[in-house]
Amino acid sequence: MAEQPMFRRVAIIGLGLIGGSFAAALRAQGLAATVVAGSRSARTLEQGLALGLIDEGSQDLALAVRGADLVFVSTPVSAMETVLTKLAPGLSERALITDGGSVKAAVIDQARRALGAHFTRFVPGHPIAGKEKSGVEAADADLYRHHRVILTPVADTDPDAARRVSELWTALGAEVLSMAPDHHDQVLAETSHLPHLLAFSLVDTLARQGDSTEIFRYAAGGFRDFTRIADSDPVMWHDIFRENRGAVLDALGMFRDGIDRFRRAIEDNDSDALMGIMTRANSARAHFMAMNARTSYTQARRSDDETGMTQHSDPTFVVAPGGRLHGRLRVPGDKSMSHRAIMLASLARGSTEISGFLEGEDALATLQAFRDMGVVIEGPHNGRVLVHGVGLHGLKAPGKPLYMGNSGTSMRLLTGLLAGQAFDTELTGDASLSKRPMERVARPLRDMGAVIETGEGGRPPVRIRGGAALKGIHYHLPMASAQVKSAVLLAGLYAEGETSVTEPAPTRDHTERMLNGFGYPVARDGATASLSGGGELRGGQLDVPADISSAAFFLVGASIAEGAEVTLPHVGVNPTRTGVIDILRLMGADIRLENQRDAGGEPVADLVVKSAPLKGIVIPEELVPLAIDELPAVFIAAACAEGETVLRGAEELRVKESDRIQVMADGLATLGVEHEVYEDGIRIVGGAYGGGEVESHGDHRIAMSFAMAALRASAPITIHHCANVATSFPGFAELARSAGLALDVRAPQESQ
Ligand code: NAP
Repeated sequence: MAEQPMFRRVAIIGLGLIGGSFAAALRAQGLAATVVAGSRSARTLEQGLALGLIDEGSQDLALAVRGADLVFVSTPVSAMETVLTKLAPGLSERALITDGGSVKAAVIDQARRALGAHFTRFVPGHPIAGKEKSGVEAADADLYRHHRVILTPVADTDPDAARRVSELWTALGAEVLSMAPDHHDQVLAETSHLPHLLAFSLVDTLARQGDSTEIFRYAAGGFRDFTRIADSDPVMWHDIFRENRGAVLDALGMFRDGIDRFRRAIEDNDSDALMGIMTRANSARAHFMAMNARTSYTQARRSDDETGMTQHSDPTFVVAPGGRLHGRLRVPGDKSMSHRAIMLASLARGSTEISGFLEGEDALATLQAFRDMGVVIEGPHNGRVLVHGVGLHGLKAPGKPLYMGNSGTSMRLLTGLLAGQAFDTELTGDASLSKRPMERVARPLRDMGAVIETGEGGRPPVRIRGGAALKGIHYHLPMASAQVKSAVLLAGLYAEGETSVTEPAPTRDHTERMLNGFGYPVARDGATASLSGGGELRGGQLDVPADISSAAFFLVGASIAEGAEVTLPHVGVNPTRTGVIDILRLMGADIRLENQRDAGGEPVADLVVKSAPLKGIVIPEELVPLAIDELPAVFIAAACAEGETVLRGAEELRVKESDRIQVMADGLATLGVEHEVYEDGIRIVGGAYGGGEVESHGDHRIAMSFAMAALRASAPITIHHCANVATSFPGFAELARSAGLALDVRAPQESQ
């Protein structure tokens, strides 16, 4: 309960599902000293009093809002103007007013007319939460918890009013977003109004058929699931379709085009087009759900809301101390290689069956981009993807900008690859990707003849003009960057003559190796890689090696746990990536590489690791760049080693997903591990340690490192903000548990 209620007197006008739930939530959180309702019907007010939702009620709306410091209007949108006109005379000067209407532009017009000078204190809002049931008896104090509320303030909305309304919804447990009203109406038309329209229409269409009882008797799950939302309140939806007419008609037009495409594919017996539509839909849905959930741990909660949008919490790992690690553990595929596998398989002639694909958000963004360019891709299912390659010149112009999410690799590599296409493209990304530099890629590509524009400050969006005739160049990389090198080489596939890149220091060479794996010759001469344009890639089988960065947690875990023995099959052991094995072996770890072989041009091996007494070392600086991503796990090995371990020359760790030196040091301090932080490294003194609450700052590698630390802790370790673990290691918790780690995944509130 809040100490001081946020509001003295809240008036709710229209005490139905949305208004009643608002009252119930205010009460549950103790956010209002007095709750009063205004309603046209005495019966509703009586029900509200009987249910304990309100303290007072009045049928006179001006009287109901008198003295209120907050007014919430939740009547049907078509009634808003009348209702606002009636209540306006009772508003006190400083009263905030907000609403829950499902359509915003129309409500704003009505409010402007009805409220006059008071309009600046009106904050238009829309909770994306609801049920098929309506009326005050359906009120639910938890309706808004973990759901989104969209506020659509306009230029003359008082910012202070908008802030206070936002704070209120946050206090009710909702996630608040802000949007322009027209944008809100368009998004809702597509994601909520259109599906409701289709559900109503399908049931109505079938019910009009001759013997509809026949249809409904045999209706299977598909029909029930699709039409569930046709149970919603007709009056509310009647209002929404009318008040959001333009956007609903646009969405319907777009849908008709989609239905026509589907129809033509069936009529023409066009099996590729049919598979294309459905595989794109399949994966787009999975992609959106994952993006929305941002984690594989929180199951998409079944929601009865208007849009199906729910907010998911950031899980906490709670790991009990001790345990052993055993078994054969296949860790997810390498991220860098998963990107390249999709790209090269799409450009190859014939199909490629990929296994071990990392189903993380970044690689899925690459996959979606190729689907958007007409490549039929089946899956992914458990890391298996079947790509129907279209050949080097078979990509089609996408209908919209290609969205790269947060994936810098996708954007940089695709810039190179798209520079040689016949069509224009635009690449966009999320807020954080939109801050990253793209000129370092664009510059050499322009030297090859590409026409590329980057946004402000050389950042995304990247616009690439099609039809440019590319010429091979010899490029001296000014910085060691595998992404820039790869972008130039990929453009080189489309260039006349030879393209070569010389690097100042060795960087990951997955692109070169995989091109070779697809039968496209890339020559290597010292620090220079070169290829000639105009060749051909051939599809086949590709088992993406398991990611050594993910395997590293189990290399450390099995080394420090007592009596452990773990086999990690098919791990990529490219020499640019194996620094962690070298470091752990120097510390005394028992790691064997068995069954060494080649997979799509990459060296792989089964890693067998057994517990071993570790000792502290001074980590050789030349190994640091080869183990940079795995160093957080090495810190845990150091905490369990006898004596001290010193790391220097690792300043890059400070600019990763978090400041990994400081964040790891903070966690080690919590566990009671003696250490000293340097600007470019750390000194860790090994020994016994305890448990406690560790903050991962959303950094997946920090979270997984501390999960392994529990194997030697004397008390449980709780790790906060673990959602991002799914970006590099989907299924980590399940795999770790199957191996013997006592790891529990909890919603944040459960663990506090
Ligand atoms: P509801 O349960 O049917 O409640 C509507 C309330 O408005 C009732 O209290 C009703 O009064 C009152 N009302 C109806 N017509 C009126 C009129 N002509 N003049 C004055 N009052 C009138 O509906 P709801 O689901 O709470 O929806 C309320 C608002 O929230 C709508 O604008 C809707 O678009 C929006 N919304 C709904 C959902 C959802 O899923 N349901 C989700 C988000 C937003 P009586 O009690 O006298 O009938």
